[in-house]
Amino acid sequence: MKYYSLNNPTLKATFKEAAITGIAPDKGLYFPEIIHSLDKNFIQHVEEYTNEEIAYQVIKTFVGEEIPEKKLREIISGTLSFPFPLPEVENDIFALELFHGPTMAFKDVGARFMSRCLNYFTEGENKKITILVATSGDTGGAVANGFLGVENINVVILYPSGKVSDVQEKQLTTLGQNITALEVDGAFDDCQDMVKQAFMDKELSGINLTSANSINIARWLPQMFYYFFAYKELKKLGKPLVVSVPSGNFGNICAGLMAKRIGLPIAHFVASTNVNDTVPRYMGSQKYEPKPTVETLSNAMDVSNPSNFVRIMQLFNKEFKELDNAFTSYSFTDNETLTAIKKVYEEHNYLCDPHGAVGYLGLKKYMEKNPGYTGVFLETAHPVKFADSITNNLNIEVPVPEQIKAVLNGEKKAEKISNYEELKAFLKS
Ligand SMILES: *Cc1c(COP(=O)(O)O)cnc(C)c1O
Repeated sequence: MKYYSLNNPTLKATFKEAAITGIAPDKGLYFPEIIHSLDKNFIQHVEEYTNEEIAYQVIKTFVGEEIPEKKLREIISGTLSFPFPLPEVENDIFALELFHGPTMAFKDVGARFMSRCLNYFTEGENKKITILVATSGDTGGAVANGFLGVENINVVILYPSGKVSDVQEKQLTTLGQNITALEVDGAFDDCQDMVKQAFMDKELSGINLTSANSINIARWLPQMFYYFFAYKELKKLGKPLVVSVPSGNFGNICAGLMAKRIGLPIAHFVASTNVNDTVPRYMGSQKYEPKPTVETLSNAMDVSNPSNFVRIMQLFNKEFKELDNAFTSYSFTDNETLTAIKKVYEEHNYLCDPHGAVGYLGLKKYMEKNPGYTGVFLETAHPVKFADSITNNLNIEVPVPEQIKAVLNGEKKAEKISNYEELKAFLKS
């Protein structure tokens, strides 16, 4: 299977090359050259298949011949070794809980799939890869956990000192082995800038540096799986489905739109954002005008220039009308988010995290204007990851699951850095 750079369609790579390098040499995002639709019969009988079989059918044409069937099925079963519950929160509204993986955020699915693919590609090649990631919280933990102990792969994570939650910091800094955490004296944007600089630094070209954010196709595409799992459960209700996705870099919702493109009958998508609202404003004005990023309670979505939006435009052949028919986007403030957490907790005894709450708000807004749907919002993180802000603002205690207790007892190990030269020296050593 071939992928091309969205900056230049003649620049092509195989699935393997795209997974190893992350981004095209001209800095374009990779996009599949051909998108195969699933067999209609398969979709009509989807509830008769296991999650693993569904995932295999969904991803196989995107991978092509580059991973043999038996190996790909192993990668999938290793990736999906936790449940994806779909509780009904209120009438016609379901929460798709994506936080039952090892780091309790949805990024576990993509990170686990990607790490297993890279492991397969580097095995027997004696090739070493260094994954360099900047994180505002969840990406780092999911990537670190997904790659822990994987041979031939080192992971270096940059995070802003004092700006991630306690749970998130422990998840980054207590693993050891092939995982190194660098605590950066600065903000998330500083971490991101250093990572970008490292990718462009010719003096580091001897190291195989790659990224593990949703730009990487091996992390982006497996996110299609859980939209199928939700559809499989809700199909019997017989109403059209609308799915609201709390969005930051728009990788998750872009995977949902790709799932629809290959045949999954989801009638409508809502991209719900915090006040970093470049896309909701774009949908109103057709002008794409990012503003400086604002810090919010749903900090994994504090992104003002979402990288995957170009992929979404490509999926709709850059036809605004088509995009507008299938996709709505709303933004919400922190105050609205906290009010929603409180209301859903008091009225329905369900505790959302701030990201899920933004998704819930977008779903409600759409369904109020457009009756007759079954609605799903994605719950992308366990509330314990944002326990401080929930408890401090709303006085609601968040129960701590066992896997988090274990992490909190671990010993933090991180190296402090404050500028690019220090990062470079570390990577060369
Ligand atoms: C990363 C993340 C998001 C945003 O996902 P995108 O694919 O970047 O849009 C939402 N919620 C949580 C908890 C996240 O970690």
